[in-house]
Amino acid sequence: MTKYVAAIDQGTTSTRCMIFTHDGKVAAIDQREHKQIFPRAGWVEHDPAEVWENTRAVAAGALAKADLAVSDIASVGITNQRETAVVWDRRTGEPVYNAIVWQDTRTDKIATQLGDLGGGQERYRSTTGLPLATYFSGPKVRWILDNVDGARERAEAGDLMFGNMDTWVLWNMTGGVDGGVHATDPTNASRTLLMDLSTLDWDADIAGEMGIPLSMLPQIRSSSEEYGKVRARGALAGVPIAGILGDQQAATFGQACLSPGEAKNTYGTGNFVLLNTGTEQVMSENGLLTTVCYKIGSADPVYALEGSIAVTGSLVQWIRDNLGMIGSAAEIEEHARQVEDNGGCYFVPAFSGLFAPYWRSDARGAIVGLTRYVNKGHLARAVLEATAFQTREVIDAMNADSGVPLTALKVDGGMVANELLMQFQADILGVPVIRPVVAETTALGAAYAAGLAVGFWDSEDDIRANWAKDKEWTPELSEDKRDRTYAKWKKAVTRTFDWVD
Ligand code: ADP
Repeated sequence: MTKYVAAIDQGTTSTRCMIFTHDGKVAAIDQREHKQIFPRAGWVEHDPAEVWENTRAVAAGALAKADLAVSDIASVGITNQRETAVVWDRRTGEPVYNAIVWQDTRTDKIATQLGDLGGGQERYRSTTGLPLATYFSGPKVRWILDNVDGARERAEAGDLMFGNMDTWVLWNMTGGVDGGVHATDPTNASRTLLMDLSTLDWDADIAGEMGIPLSMLPQIRSSSEEYGKVRARGALAGVPIAGILGDQQAATFGQACLSPGEAKNTYGTGNFVLLNTGTEQVMSENGLLTTVCYKIGSADPVYALEGSIAVTGSLVQWIRDNLGMIGSAAEIEEHARQVEDNGGCYFVPAFSGLFAPYWRSDARGAIVGLTRYVNKGHLARAVLEATAFQTREVIDAMNADSGVPLTALKVDGGMVANELLMQFQADILGVPVIRPVVAETTALGAAYAAGLAVGFWDSEDDIRANWAKDKEWTPELSEDKRDRTYAKWKKAVTRTFDWVD
């Protein structure tokens, strides 16, 4: 009897392998960061070869740390940074260009041109659930085909493959040029601007408009089924790969938000609030996305409303790496605790424009409200508060779209270690914030998908039973103070608009 399930979590800043027990506890974790490549203002890339090398290394590392043999692992799931696009040659396995990361804004003009064909930003909304924005993969693929020498001809000849990071990792794990499986799941496919949300298939008309040959696109399978086995050269050789979920959908699954009306917020590089809407596709009128939440085997797909925020934890990284104001991300809390409040200072981190609910690629970051009074502590607070304010904006949009106000928020991700932020989040939302025992819900969700497919877990009831609360924060701020500070934030946001021509 195997006792464990593994998950590869190919995130924006790092790649992890985590091994979980049947009761959803972490048995081992190994992690490696990869380079963030910023060739120009607004451009963000990753080296796909480095990511693949790290994937193999962490899989071996996690097994070694837990002192496990490959025969102890029932199956492996993959979860990934979504929208990040890789294009490679199917015969050599060589990427034709670096991976273009979800935060990258270079496709701004492509998105505008497509919108100009009619319908503007809403052109593909009714089919894909998404606004036309730089965030999604389709225009990134178009950019590669337009700008890499010979790429379009090779794509049209059927020599190139496209994938988000899940597909890149899956193809390589299953043998690469030697019979690798070129597939994805509907949660990832729903982030390309190329998938029809109702049929869960590629939309040939949209792909045609974007100039993307259908032969490049991976097969869309479910989120939980056996796609293939890890080939002998990998550390998990012979183990079935049986789950794929985009990172935010994986976290929703790992948080056991399995019924309509349940929502979670993940605090990582960016923040992502997902509300399970069941088998119904709710089209947003308030700047949210409609996306696939998961599709387990042959069951009907479950959909979600999503509020995506581009910059939250990465603002803390920026303060650390670009300003050198702190030595580690955790240190920001010590500075923030030196002061009572933000001292009138607001930091709107529109580094990639603004995502939900604004979708403004013309916005750029701003710090407003500065006086001689403002010190390092106030700035640290403003940095943390930016995450909470942006979350409030997408929760407000969600409440308006769904008509059912959220009564509590389940949270996870790297930033939820920050207790000052969690308290402020509860204060600014006016509802309790709840952190589970296992905050690594992204990897856990992918493990659940992989474990369900091979019978390691019997049903979603097992997932619900494994979820346990660690800590809860309740609102303490007066309503009056909450309203005043939030109004100031909204005003600060307007200062970032119209910055890029
Ligand atoms: P991802 O999966 O997107 O790579 P993680 O969930 O690992 O991200 O979260 C890492 C992010 O959380 C980083 O951007 C980091 O700056 C931020 N972070 C980590 N610890 C803290 C902390 N104690 N306080 C504030 N931010 C933190």
